[in-house]
Amino acid sequence: MEGKKVKSNSLLAIDSHCHLQSSEFYDDETRESAYRQSIDAGIGMICVGTDVRSSYEAVEFARTHDDCWAIVGIHPHDVEKEGDDGVAAIETLLSQRAADMHGRPVVVGVGEIGLDYFYDNSPRQAQRGMLQRQLVLARRYDVPVSFHVRDEKSGNGAVWRDFWPIFDEMPVRGVLHSFTDTEENLRQGLQRGLYIGVNGISTFTKDSTQQQMYADLSLDSMLIETDAPFLTPHPFRGRINVPAFVVEVARDQAMKKHRSVDCVYDITQANTRRLFHL
Ligand SMILES: [Zn+2]
Repeated sequence: MEGKKVKSNSLLAIDSHCHLQSSEFYDDETRESAYRQSIDAGIGMICVGTDVRSSYEAVEFARTHDDCWAIVGIHPHDVEKEGDDGVAAIETLLSQRAADMHGRPVVVGVGEIGLDYFYDNSPRQAQRGMLQRQLVLARRYDVPVSFHVRDEKSGNGAVWRDFWPIFDEMPVRGVLHSFTDTEENLRQGLQRGLYIGVNGISTFTKDSTQQQMYADLSLDSMLIETDAPFLTPHPFRGRINVPAFVVEVARDQAMKKHRSVDCVYDITQANTRRLFHL
């Protein structure tokens, strides 16, 4: 007897943003066992690059594993490290149209890209330039974008005052991944047709305003994600995060909204498939 095989159209849920492919965070054995754990639970996953190496790894992993897709791009932290050659490498991945064993395309978006004024690991001007150039790529290859936008520690909105004008000049379909900002910026994102990526933070934040925001946000605008290996949801805090834990994000949403977990799975999976054309 062959082991249970989950087909793309029979998944329970999709983790819309994880880094399981990355050799920086997982050794091969941990990665394969986390993959099996997820697939056995009916969870597919989108593996997201943060630099050239992890983008290549995402494509390779998605090519060779069922119910996995890849997003390629350069994170604001890695702007200085990658430079012009990095953008060229990302374009190569987008243009190659890599396919899985069934002939289906595996590169489904650009990300994670954006601006990070919290850590300022790269100069802000360079971050903005890299964001613009990768938006050009997303538009050229007509794929959606997974955005990472994080404000200064003071939370004065500086990052959004730079982000929205850049976005508005080159609008794309996409998701504000790991959104933790204000109601106002949430509204700004929704107005522009962006989805909101909700992860383990919603299960453990003690900030009551944030809790309320995650409770109020409509499922129709939501993608669920883990951002594994980071942000492990309650009740697994302290362990390395894996895509299978996206179940806890869904459970928490079901509780907050007085809906069934199945309903959360169905709506958010449909959103993820619609956005990334899965
Ligand atoms: Zn991420």
